Amino acid sequence: MDHEQDTFCEKEPIAKDRIKQKVLKRRDEHSIVKIPGEPRTPKETVPSIPGVMTSRGCAFAGARGVVFGPITDVANIVHGPIGCSYYTWDQRRNLGTDSHFLKLCFSTDLKEKDIIFGGEKKLFSTIVQVAEKFHPAAVAVYATCPVGLIGDDIDAVCKKAQEKIGIPVIPVHSEGFRGVNQSDGHKIACDTIAKYITGTVEPDSITDYDVNIVGEYNIGGEGWEFKRLFKKLGLRVYAVWTGDSKYRELASCHRVKLNLIHCQRSITSLAEDMMANYGIPIMNISMFGIEQSMDSLRRIAAFFGLEERAEQLIKEEFDGIRSELEQYRSIFKGKRIVMYIGGARSWHFIKMFADLGLEVVSTGSEFGHGDDYEKMWLRAKDGTKFIDDMNHYELHEIVSKYKPDIVASGIKEMFTARSRGVPYLNIHSYTGAGPFIGFRGLMNLAKEIEKAMSIEDPAINVPVWDTEGTK
Ligand code: SF4
Repeated sequence: MDHEQDTFCEKEPIAKDRIKQKVLKRRDEHSIVKIPGEPRTPKETVPSIPGVMTSRGCAFAGARGVVFGPITDVANIVHGPIGCSYYTWDQRRNLGTDSHFLKLCFSTDLKEKDIIFGGEKKLFSTIVQVAEKFHPAAVAVYATCPVGLIGDDIDAVCKKAQEKIGIPVIPVHSEGFRGVNQSDGHKIACDTIAKYITGTVEPDSITDYDVNIVGEYNIGGEGWEFKRLFKKLGLRVYAVWTGDSKYRELASCHRVKLNLIHCQRSITSLAEDMMANYGIPIMNISMFGIEQSMDSLRRIAAFFGLEERAEQLIKEEFDGIRSELEQYRSIFKGKRIVMYIGGARSWHFIKMFADLGLEVVSTGSEFGHGDDYEKMWLRAKDGTKFIDDMNHYELHEIVSKYKPDIVASGIKEMFTARSRGVPYLNIHSYTGAGPFIGFRGLMNLAKEIEKAMSIEDPAINVPVWDTEGTK
């Protein structure tokens, strides 16, 4: 088959070239360069081109992997073939004080026979087995593409299982095809949480200084750093959506005084729902980098009348890193960075890298919407390249053209960057590092950048055929 395809291409170079030109033309619409007066957003949130490798995830990945996954006492059952579960098994470094269920992955492991005759019985017995053996606070059941296609009634199975086991069993209609990327899965998860979890339990106690942090997934312990800083400010973090959270906290957090939204792409709709149903105001914040952290702390403090405490906190934290920050700024001055990441971080991080003296020459997003690109535009310098749903061919092109000193992205771009001899930094799950939020977090980030850039011989990353030539 491969041989036949090669022969076809050799005989039909014009047809092959025509397809390539057509694809490149379609991809052109997904990138822009920031030039005043020119369009501010590339084409976004449209399906990827078949045959072009994308780093995006499916709707199921967004629901299970991002929003629901970090709840530490909920057992997540993936109803589908085992392949759907692969990337959900402790991949994202959501840390948890009680991380039992973060380390486990349950699947109904549907086979051909189940696809033909239906998987409802298997799902029911899986839910009961998981509940009896592992005693979770609740169970979430995720529909995957094949389940949506064969029409298993997961709502009915969950209801029946809930009656038998006596804990909440939540159906999540997250079939991968229900959207163009993981962003649609985030929304599905938010709608499910609003329907089945929010407001189902009343809190034991509430204070005038209670907040929720919405859209914080405790990657590398960032939720814990939030709690440390906010305690010093005088606030109680009632619940974190959803990093290191417990089912009961989330079910009873509808009486807090303010919802602080950190990731403003994945979970905003849930905060909006709580505003509509429980009157909880919303504040968008960013704790990435010095400038954004100071601004956020001051706005939060103004809401609660804690301005003096905020100034004291900012001074303490900033004094603690001042001299180290100056050293890093002189090391990184003028260094160029290409970054590519999910939704909100694609613009949150521009200012954070600028705080360290780095220049962002290109940024982009797997699933950013128009408002994410608008925010990138406001933060980036003229001449910055924005690219939506980037593929590895395009990353090669960007690296060749913009000659960055480092590429910062999710894990999927690591090999492309390293194959060009460019240092790489994981800003998705942080590869053992973090937290990166706040003042101390910025120093953690600086250390990781320095480490990545200090590889003595960049040629160790260059493939042998680039150094030895092809024989
Ligand atoms: S089969 Fe569907 S749900 Fe499963 S991983 Fe693929 S796209 Fe996602």
